[in-house]
Amino acid sequence: MNKYQALLRQVGLKQTRQRTIMLDVLYNSKDLLSAEDLFSAIKKRGVSMSLSTVYRILESFTEKGLVTAMTLETSKQVRYEITHTHHGHHLICLACNKVIHVEGCPLEDYEEKLAKKHRFQIDDHTLNFYGYCEACTPR
Ligand SMILES: [Zn+2]
Ligand SMILES: [Zn+2]
Repeated sequence: MNKYQALLRQVGLKQTRQRTIMLDVLYNSKDLLSAEDLFSAIKKRGVSMSLSTVYRILESFTEKGLVTAMTLETSKQVRYEITHTHHGHHLICLACNKVIHVEGCPLEDYEEKLAKKHRFQIDDHTLNFYGYCEACTPR
């Protein structure tokens, strides 16, 4: 749990059991999570936390940059993930709204070309893939 303690200290938040467990759940999830997802994951670990506490902690994490919130264009739902230090992309399921974070980027060369051609300093880009996850694909 030391990793989380250091992170919280870095952003000036006091370490509490609730904050630590939220970070742990977020760190160990391959998918982005909604507040309700977090709520039930925490409950499964035998820790009682109200949904409004989950929201409150998410808000402070987002404010401090520990967590990134993503609003799905397809459903207006908000999903959360740990703020990644490495750039990545998202796969978004149109049926169940699952969002998978994928590491790595195939666009670095293209970005460089664009920057040169348009004399434009590119700081960031986003790329989302929409479709159907394994569970939602009929086989
Ligand atoms: Zn799905
Ligand atoms: Zn990229």
